[in-house]
Amino acid sequence: MSKRQEQILQIVKDHEPITGEQIAEMLNLTRATLRPDLAILTMSGLLDARPRVGYFYTGKTGMRLVSERIRKLKVKDYKAPPILVEESVSAYDAIVTLFLEDVGTIFVVNKERHLAGVISRKDLLRASLGNKNLEDVPAGVIMTRMPNIITVGLEDSLFDAANKLIEYQIDSLPVVIPVEGRKNTYEVVGRFTKTTITRAFVEMGKEEVI
Ligand code: ADP
Repeated sequence: MSKRQEQILQIVKDHEPITGEQIAEMLNLTRATLRPDLAILTMSGLLDARPRVGYFYTGKTGMRLVSERIRKLKVKDYKAPPILVEESVSAYDAIVTLFLEDVGTIFVVNKERHLAGVISRKDLLRASLGNKNLEDVPAGVIMTRMPNIITVGLEDSLFDAANKLIEYQIDSLPVVIPVEGRKNTYEVVGRFTKTTITRAFVEMGKEEVI
């Protein structure tokens, strides 16, 4: 925040409600000079402007504003494309897909292209133990399967999705749309991973800070 914005904030805290004219007078500046600062303070949620009354201090601290902002971010705006394989492909092919697509988790779909399960790196490592021929092990046998799959919806918040990753100690969630009238039946429209959260975090860090 600039020195002048800090001064404005203090004046509003001490004298609210107060008009832009009155603030300008106290700072020996013109109303026009103050306009961009007032706009920034209002947009950031620190001040509230009421027509014909003046400016109020909202009482929201920086952390509260950041947390409100985080809770507004939606899965649909950050999700990545899903990497899907059919249940019948082999564990060997699943490993190849993992490398080719450069992901840590792949989602498995049934013949109707609905979510059937999830295969993670550890599932594949487990399948590789022993002398099994991985070309003969179907993905459907080694996956974690429905209805035990933790999912998120497009309208869910990034925050709730991140919470699920922590709560269930997993790296990735399929982003799904429920198929109407059918229990536990989902179309997979995206993937939500720890990388998704990291990207959102980095983007927010790049935003203009007041
Ligand atoms: P990694 O194998 O790299 O540690 P995870 O921690 O995501 O990856 O996976 C741990 C276990 O949880 C695996 O058996 C995997 O099949 C399962 N799993 C992964 N994602 C989900 C999910 N969204 N819902 C249910 N189970 C999952």
